[in-house]
Amino acid sequence: MNEVINKLGQEYVSVDLLEKLVYSHDLAVLPKFVKPLFDTTPVAIVRPKTTEHIAEIMRLANEYRIPVIPRGGATWGFGGTIPVKGGIILDLTGLNRIVHFDEKNGLLTVECGAVWEDIMHFLRETRWKLPTYPSSALSSTVGGWAATGGIGYGSLKYGPFLKNVVKATVVLPSGRIVVVDDKSNPNLSQLFGSEGILCIFADLTLKLIPKSDVEVPFMANFSNFANALMSAQEVLRLTSPHSLVLKAFGFVRTKDYVESDTYFFGCVDGNRYEVYKQYLTLDNIVNRYRGYLVPEDEARREWEERFYTLKIKKWGPSILGNEFIIPTHKILDMVKYCWQLGNQAHLDVEVEVMFISRYKALMFQLFLCDERKSLRYLMSAAITKKVLDAAIKAGGKPYGYGLWNFQFMERAEPEKKRELKRIKRMLDPWNVLNPGKMIEVRLRLGFPLPGKLYSMFMDGMWFLRRVM
Ligand SMILES: Cc1cc2nc3c(=O)[nH]c(=O)nc-3n(C[C@H](O)[C@H](O)[C@H](O)COP(=O)(O)OP(=O)(O)OC[C@H]3O[C@@H](n4cnc5c(N)ncnc54)[C@H](O)[C@@H]3O)c2cc1C
Repeated sequence: MNEVINKLGQEYVSVDLLEKLVYSHDLAVLPKFVKPLFDTTPVAIVRPKTTEHIAEIMRLANEYRIPVIPRGGATWGFGGTIPVKGGIILDLTGLNRIVHFDEKNGLLTVECGAVWEDIMHFLRETRWKLPTYPSSALSSTVGGWAATGGIGYGSLKYGPFLKNVVKATVVLPSGRIVVVDDKSNPNLSQLFGSEGILCIFADLTLKLIPKSDVEVPFMANFSNFANALMSAQEVLRLTSPHSLVLKAFGFVRTKDYVESDTYFFGCVDGNRYEVYKQYLTLDNIVNRYRGYLVPEDEARREWEERFYTLKIKKWGPSILGNEFIIPTHKILDMVKYCWQLGNQAHLDVEVEVMFISRYKALMFQLFLCDERKSLRYLMSAAITKKVLDAAIKAGGKPYGYGLWNFQFMERAEPEKKRELKRIKRMLDPWNVLNPGKMIEVRLRLGFPLPGKLYSMFMDGMWFLRRVM
């Protein structure tokens, strides 16, 4: 650590115990009984200010074989930023500058730690806007989204984040700085979604889109989920909204202005005529499925609330999150199954469905629970395993692996796993960059955690949860 301090300077490094404890978890809390299996306390937190700093840290990490764990806003809930072998947490939020704005061509180069909301703020006075952004935009970073899923608001119409990035400067585990794009080796799509195990995104050049003439939010209430779903599918067939999100159960109850069991909302953008035509079609479809469009001011309020999904947490007091990508024709079965599991385990289940295309959706569930009751919390966590088992059987896949979901990758995406392992061996022979995530998890003493054993353990927990 002294060497890191000598190279970067004292002001970039913290070994304060309290800070180290804060940095030993992300959005999701590791159950008390699981924590001792890993060394979750970092030896230090390092806050680089330049790409060269990151490269320097990676070179030292290789020399001394110290794990380095990249961290942005820590809003991801799958344990990607939790150390499992101690090591250095690389807090990237200090790299948050706008590097270059090519106003003529709508290209914006930003550092990885820039928060989405700040970028939106920067673009307010320009004629450009972001094609897509996550609903965690108020606190998540650009690099964090490149490293994880990259599906969010706007992805339905303008594609996922990957499709809207021209190039990126990355630091490889060896400390080499390279620029990657569609044609480089490795290329952007190999590194996107690699959850911080293959490279550190240092800066990214984003493709912007011109602001539309009008953006009209919409919101439709329904008396039951099946009707809302069928209506949403018809909307996808006959119109092309910017975003379309379906919400049910507790998500509805957090809103004092929503008077139905389930609703969908979103936004249509484009020129005036196009938007007007789409809105009329939407109204027609909604009526046919016995729903109704709410007045525009209510729809606008819901649209502006899209960044506050976690309001529901106050009812927990804790939440267990789960996300997977699923074919749209399986949504109803999956929602019913989640509901059934929630009833069996006496857990309140909340469901949100963000459509990615006519055929695919991102389904997000929250289970309300209480992490203070450690054993019960661990047993409750097993519900997410049951849901993912069913989602994979239905042709879906987890939306992220990290520490929590590593066991599913072999079943859901075996080829991707093999490919990631191959690139990892090539780029990171000493396994210093975010070890013990996504493709394999190792326990404190270095033993690999077999996915099957973990799976059996979680099934056991689920059995206990149902009977206790
Ligand atoms: C309320 C809420 C709403 C959300 N909505 C969405 C959504 O709409 N779409 C979506 O995809 N996700 C969503 N998420 C999940 C999460 O916010 C996103 O994945 C987000 O992009 C993570 O960014 P972060 O900066 O918080 O990353 P972190 O949580 O800090 O890190 C996530 C992973 O990426 C790695 N990482 C971080 N920065 C870098 C970097 N620069 N280079 C390499 N690896 C890095 C970390 O090691 C870790 O494995 C939501 C979460 C919450 C709490």
